[in-house]
Amino acid sequence: MRRSHNALVAPNLRPCTRCGAYVMPHRVCPECGHYKGTLVLEPKVKVEKTK
Ligand SMILES: [Zn+2]
Repeated sequence: MRRSHNALVAPNLRPCTRCGAYVMPHRVCPECGHYKGTLVLEPKVKVEKTK
């Protein structure tokens, strides 16, 4: 009973709707920088300009 609070909690992760990476719910995806379909942050990997 002393260690009853030491159990690991299940990871509360949701797949990103844009890139599929598992991220915390209600957090900006660190992979693509999107949240709820809008670009919030710059992606960590820069995309080369095609034009
Ligand atoms: Zn993403």
